[in-house]
Amino acid sequence: MEIIHVTAECYPIAKAGGLGDVLGALPKYQQVLGHTSKVVMPMYKTKYLYTHQFDVVHKGGSNLAGYFFDYTIIKEASNELGFELYLVDINGLLDREQIYGYEDDTERFIAFQIAVLDWICSWATFPHVIHVHDYHTALIPFMMQHSYRYNALANIPSVLTIHNAQYQGQFGWQKSNCIPAWDPWKSGLLEWNNAINPLVTGIKSAWKVTTVSPNYMNELRSNSNGLEPIFEYEKGKCSGILNGIDVNVWNPATDKYLNHHFNADTSENGKHKNKQELCETFGLSIDKPLFVFIGRLVGEKAADLLPQVISDCFNNIGRTMNFLILGSGEPIVERALEGLKNNSENDFNVYIGYNETLSHKMYAGADFLLMPSRVEPCGLNQLYALRYGTVPVVRKTGGLQDTVKDFMEINGYGVTFNNADVGDITHAIFRSLQLYQNSEKMTEIRTTMMELDFSWDKSADDYIKLYASLQ
Ligand code: ADP
Repeated sequence: MEIIHVTAECYPIAKAGGLGDVLGALPKYQQVLGHTSKVVMPMYKTKYLYTHQFDVVHKGGSNLAGYFFDYTIIKEASNELGFELYLVDINGLLDREQIYGYEDDTERFIAFQIAVLDWICSWATFPHVIHVHDYHTALIPFMMQHSYRYNALANIPSVLTIHNAQYQGQFGWQKSNCIPAWDPWKSGLLEWNNAINPLVTGIKSAWKVTTVSPNYMNELRSNSNGLEPIFEYEKGKCSGILNGIDVNVWNPATDKYLNHHFNADTSENGKHKNKQELCETFGLSIDKPLFVFIGRLVGEKAADLLPQVISDCFNNIGRTMNFLILGSGEPIVERALEGLKNNSENDFNVYIGYNETLSHKMYAGADFLLMPSRVEPCGLNQLYALRYGTVPVVRKTGGLQDTVKDFMEINGYGVTFNNADVGDITHAIFRSLQLYQNSEKMTEIRTTMMELDFSWDKSADDYIKLYASLQ
């Protein structure tokens, strides 16, 4: 089967979060299963672009709200990723340093989607499935079926995967002329609360819709910022497929970002060396258990609660643990965390920014990974933590509930709690400290965690079965 994934992110070319990780791994695993899985994404100004060779495969021009634009499709020449990677270059629109966050993101991603569909129209034989990801590419299923210029693509099955339903990409009807002319009887598919909502349009128009964990799909039916009726109405074509991890990239025995490698047999010593390196770099005390948080400093991740949680732990439990935070996001949270550094007694530090290398070192060197998320569609951090022998301390929500079992349950290995509030998180940290005192139990669950299999093998096949059901 031939599949083309259309996405805004793909590791290692451009990644802002889990979407990038998934698109860097899933196609590779689909290739291994014997399918042709390609990825097409915008050509941003990233380092990868300047350190790799590309061939031009297609050039064209199209129209966005009456303005003509040229585009070029280039292909990574060596296929080093394990799948074919195509980048769409649109001068002035896509060639920016950041992935998101520009005022004209609506126009940028619609132009990207138009260029992709124009290009596919030029193929001699069409792919068996067009798989789109999140709102940035979610207008494609609609355009394929209802924009006159893409009539040729109307019978190709489309799948939309929702990695995060918080971001929906709404824009006003005054920009509707960005979308290539469509059958006016179908305008209802674009409409949601007097605006155009690309995510909703994708849910209504795609042949199948998936979320990145089964539990997240259930949650969306009762709690999705106003989209509950649409998930309920379309439930017949919706399902959850749990994300996997790329066990070659995320392997503590070979990880290219680590100075000290280890496996399940050598984890005690290996993790200790990684912890030592982190503690030296960040002025932390090696003797105390190390709790880390890695992620976007936003409400979804409950990052706003961290400053209070850390203060409460120090005040109420005592200065018996270290905290190290890596992330960026809401300025008020960044400032509050920076402020805590003033009171550190070699037990708190924060790195504001995005740093892939540091994240790997933290998964390897930490004792506990905190994920108090209010919303967590799948969550990859906890899966990386498990593979690196770091105990995940998670709120029971979304994919966290699907993947982490409390250590008090039979064969359990994590620390779980119910509510994203300061009291519950602090209590979970208290329980983690008790667990830490029991070195025998720590060793036992570390072995259990490192032997769990969250690779893409099964889920990549689940997607193939889903595509096959559409042929
Ligand atoms: P998200 O909701 O952000 O997509 P996921 O858990 O699905 O959350 O994926 C997060 C991914 O992004 C992980 O690979 C994590 O290590 C990475 N990540 C998040 N923030 C940072 C950061 N500041 N520096 C490095 N990596 C980060």
